[in-house]
Amino acid sequence: MSRLLTISVLTASITINAMASENKKFDYVADRFADIEVLRYQVPGFEDLSLNQKQLVYYLTEAAISGRDILWDQNNKYNLQLRQLLESIYNDYKGDKTTDDYKAFEKYLKQVWFGNGFHHHYSMDKFVPEFSVEFFDKCVSELPAEKKVENIDILKKIIFAPEFMAKKVNQAEGQDLIVTSATNLYEGVTQKEVEDYYNALKDTTDTTPISYGLNTKIVKVNGKITELPFKKGGLYSDAITRIIDNLQKANRFAENDMQRRTIEKLIEYYTTGNLRTFDEYSIIWVEDTASRVDFINGFIESYDDPLGMTGNWESIVNFKDLGASERTETISKNAQWFEDNSPVDSRFKKETVKGVSAKVITAAILAGDSYPATPIGINLPNANWIRAAHGSKSVTIENITKAYDEASHGNGFNEEFIPDAAMRELMDKYLFITDNLHTDLHECLGHGSGKLLPGVDPDALKAHGSTLEEARADLFALYYLADPKMVELGLVDSPEAYKAQYYKYMLNGLMTQLMRIEPGKDVEEAHMRNRKLIAEWALQHGASANVVELYKENGKTYLRINDFEALRNLFGELLAEIQRIKSEGDYEAGRDLVEKYAVKVEPDLHKEILDRYSHLDIAPYKGFVNPRYTLVYSPDGTVIDVTVSYGEGYAEQMMRYSRDYSPLTEK
Ligand code: ZN
Repeated sequence: MSRLLTISVLTASITINAMASENKKFDYVADRFADIEVLRYQVPGFEDLSLNQKQLVYYLTEAAISGRDILWDQNNKYNLQLRQLLESIYNDYKGDKTTDDYKAFEKYLKQVWFGNGFHHHYSMDKFVPEFSVEFFDKCVSELPAEKKVENIDILKKIIFAPEFMAKKVNQAEGQDLIVTSATNLYEGVTQKEVEDYYNALKDTTDTTPISYGLNTKIVKVNGKITELPFKKGGLYSDAITRIIDNLQKANRFAENDMQRRTIEKLIEYYTTGNLRTFDEYSIIWVEDTASRVDFINGFIESYDDPLGMTGNWESIVNFKDLGASERTETISKNAQWFEDNSPVDSRFKKETVKGVSAKVITAAILAGDSYPATPIGINLPNANWIRAAHGSKSVTIENITKAYDEASHGNGFNEEFIPDAAMRELMDKYLFITDNLHTDLHECLGHGSGKLLPGVDPDALKAHGSTLEEARADLFALYYLADPKMVELGLVDSPEAYKAQYYKYMLNGLMTQLMRIEPGKDVEEAHMRNRKLIAEWALQHGASANVVELYKENGKTYLRINDFEALRNLFGELLAEIQRIKSEGDYEAGRDLVEKYAVKVEPDLHKEILDRYSHLDIAPYKGFVNPRYTLVYSPDGTVIDVTVSYGEGYAEQMMRYSRDYSPLTEK
């Protein structure tokens, strides 16, 4: 429910500051192919951590990379075999590497790496190979005997047959979402069978329910629906065992007792697969706000389960950015004020907002579902009752947002889409800070605000739950960005700053994010749907007063915001309505909003956006290679330092991970 994905669709340049000139020599771009740009990020402040903290980070990063294969297998049961086959061809290829076929093969492999499988990480569609069947057959026939893989016919169908396993996650209303999705979270079962199974299992009187299905695959055993847990001794045992080994090593360097208990609980959970233990772990984890080093490691977000139950495996290791965290601490300290003053009906407000702990962090490694594409903000845990009783941790990952901003500087976007020079200037000045504030508000207040009425099923909004939840958090952020409280708290130095964010948000939701959609396709991904929902709703509801308009000049469509204050009120109105929908579990109203505003794309405008983008060469999607950490030993064999380096290339890193961190493919 709670990750904010990249905001890089609109990539305005930022004000040059002292940091930028220091970083001038850093090579941010690692690779560029298809619709992807792969960037590098720096880990400022790592050198200043204590030796203990550095070793803690080191072993947590090892635990992170060790889980990589799990996500590949969750995404599709043939992904690991396909990866092995493609990497074998890549490694052993002796022919001409300048041919179109070979270059297309290399591009396909890079796409598969980026998707952690053969579906696009965002559109969920299968990648389309641009190399010939003949080329592929020849490569396969030339592989040495020991590199031959099983299921070659199925793998070939995966690559070349467009209709076969076409969609990673299907969300089309009215179809069997399980049968038509290619993910490996269910096998041999229908949507109805799974829904009946969970309905029978759920005890609606339980006020502290486990996160049903979070760490299991559902199959049929002798005709009976059965959950197979991901745990040591269960599914993914070899990878989980290796994660546990590294967690144990990390634990020797825990900063304090609470962190030690957190790591021990996580190990216990991975060993037993018990979701009550996972809840216990989540509670200690969320209450540990004293440790500088922190991490996520487990089955967390369920966006890629068509029913929103099973979590994708992921890990992020990080440490607190002490300076920048003052900003989020200010927001967090005033959480109750924000809750009390929101435009939401008082029946749906929290009387007491508990423990919103917010910080700005520096990511040290990205893994699983957060790699190579990564969120820029996270708010966990996801269990509603834990959030209500124990609060949640909210983070903004600022070394990642910084890399986005630095890499996008001067890419021509602003000149193409923002005709008003004064607005461009405002964005240069205030977009970086308002982007970060938007993330802070979204994560540390938005998701945590509001409450369900008694007896309302938290999953009542079903397939539209993610979109509406993201809309709720975004609207909370948008509404408050324009509040005088922002200036009063010293978070921005101008009452005009929010206009930069409003313009960007509307432009993105109405127009520029469409560059991520292929012609003729609908908007599918929850965050994109949420942005479209908000922007289209505001455009239409403000139409009679001409609050926002799209106009044409020389055949190009542009956005103009005529009344920023009225736009703010519209955001407030929609926030109140979506909070009502969530609080009452009003599925029909939620579905209608999503279907009316968030899904369908206007074909002419879409075509225009794609045309305009094609002249800019801006990659619609970005992701990252990780830095490398190395233990430094003294002559007597004790560790005296941990160093970080950034030089690794994208293909190089992927091949290294497959070679050194692939417990599920080792025979
Ligand atoms: Zn979110």
